[in-house]
Amino acid sequence: MNGLIMDYQLVLPAILRRAEQLHGPREIVTRRPDKSFHRYTYADFVRRAKRLSVALKRLGVESGDRVATLAWNHHQHLEAYFGIPAAGAVVHTINPRLHRDDLAYIVNHARDRILLLDGTLLRVFEQFRDDVDLERVVVISHGEDVPEGMLDYEELLEGADESEFEYPELDERQAAAMCYTSGTTGRPKGVLYSHRALVVHSLVTALAETLAIKEPDAVLPVVPMFHVNAWGLPFTSTLAGAKQVFPGPHLDPQSLLENFERERVTFTAGVPTVFLAVLQALDREPGGWDLSAMRAIVVGGSAAPEGMIRAYRERHNLNVVHAWGMTEMSPIGTICHLTSDLLQLPEEERYRYRATQGRPVPFVEIRARGAEGIVPWDGETYGELEVRGPSVASAYYEAPEDDGKFTPDGWFKTGDIVTIDERGYVEIQDRAKDVIKSGGEWISSVALENALMSHPAVAEAAVIAISDEKWQERPLAVVVLKDGQSATEEELIDYLRPRFAKFWLPDAVEFVDEIPRTATGKFLKMALREQFKDYTPA
Ligand code: ADP
Repeated sequence: MNGLIMDYQLVLPAILRRAEQLHGPREIVTRRPDKSFHRYTYADFVRRAKRLSVALKRLGVESGDRVATLAWNHHQHLEAYFGIPAAGAVVHTINPRLHRDDLAYIVNHARDRILLLDGTLLRVFEQFRDDVDLERVVVISHGEDVPEGMLDYEELLEGADESEFEYPELDERQAAAMCYTSGTTGRPKGVLYSHRALVVHSLVTALAETLAIKEPDAVLPVVPMFHVNAWGLPFTSTLAGAKQVFPGPHLDPQSLLENFERERVTFTAGVPTVFLAVLQALDREPGGWDLSAMRAIVVGGSAAPEGMIRAYRERHNLNVVHAWGMTEMSPIGTICHLTSDLLQLPEEERYRYRATQGRPVPFVEIRARGAEGIVPWDGETYGELEVRGPSVASAYYEAPEDDGKFTPDGWFKTGDIVTIDERGYVEIQDRAKDVIKSGGEWISSVALENALMSHPAVAEAAVIAISDEKWQERPLAVVVLKDGQSATEEELIDYLRPRFAKFWLPDAVEFVDEIPRTATGKFLKMALREQFKDYTPA
């Protein structure tokens, strides 16, 4: 017997309607390219999102069509997040930091019809425009001239009448958004989010035990809106009616700190590299910023070193919360909050837990598989993490082979090597391709990196495998020192010695000026492995 409950569809326009009815006067702030601040209200945002939707339909956009964006975090991008799906179309966010071959590949593979292009990214677009076939390019200009043949976003909106907008009747399983994985592992692959997945993700992330986003919050996503929907924050914030603060193209520590202070930001999120840089800026000027409104800095995308979590808390009284996720998961999978019993532990042990990736958010199921099958939750046994849930991809977009990423019983294989403890705290030990296999034993590059990054002279560290005749692979540490600091190879290895088994210690330390990064700001270990492929320790 079925329940007698309405078949109400969980779709993004329902969030838009709620915002229209309830959040009208709440503010949305954007830092413009010239560093001035643009401010308007949710009422303005809803009006403009509706106009965008009407304008796109006039341009011939139909249900399921892909409309791409190549843009930084700003209010126009938020309008696209809702205006495009409200037209029944799919908002396809593209990462401008990708190589131009990948950009062309992605646009062609997704068969994007229209592109909303940030005026500051015209030059990026020029690099691949001849390799793609778009019907229209609409420029979101911040004062840049709109080139011949392209449309002006503001003119497009002015020419549309929001009274023509009707909330669409959509099926919640319909596609709403699309994002390509940034290809740290081969060609980018498309993930196609349904309305339902994004709404469920917004509900789950709004929960107190997840991100706790509420109306009184002021949320600043440092994570770009082209990186897995800025971890869903624009959707969650709009659902809650939180004030939204967009940093525009300015992701340097100084600009971010100005935004945090001036807009009384309560919640922010991004990758560790950004927040390591912010930490250095805070350390240079202790007490220089009033961040008393900030209640949480969520860090994920790669491992947040324990030393960083500790430094924020001890030196600046700021709360760093570690989270793990993937493009294929919309993206949040686990988040680290301490359970009531762990909160009773001595501080040192609490830090150890805070550095883990935490426990799965509601409706994300986890298990880890080792050579002999599913591993126990003992905090020790390594296995590859598998997940399932209502916001997890079930396949890649038009990918004939799924690369063996799904198990026969329908779980997604994350490619992350983890341990899970008895309480369900997950610790990412490595990516399957980054783990160092030394004489049949596994060495976690992440653990070594985190330990190195807690050394006072070290700004950044990446540990990679170099080939070794006897052991097959051995660890090499590649280190960037902080400005004006020094350390020798010997000092750093001695620093690691008390914390690791002898065979884990890197065979050598190489000092470099910078570590190459992926388009989403993570260490590009593929490039480092290439650079050091014939390396032999002195
Ligand atoms: P890509 O890195 O290929 O662009 P994603 O942005 O989807 O793809 O990144 C997902 C991967 O990032 C995860 O599989 C994991 O390896 C890594 N990752 C994400 N968050 C964390 C974290 N908190 N700690 C360690 N690794 C993380």
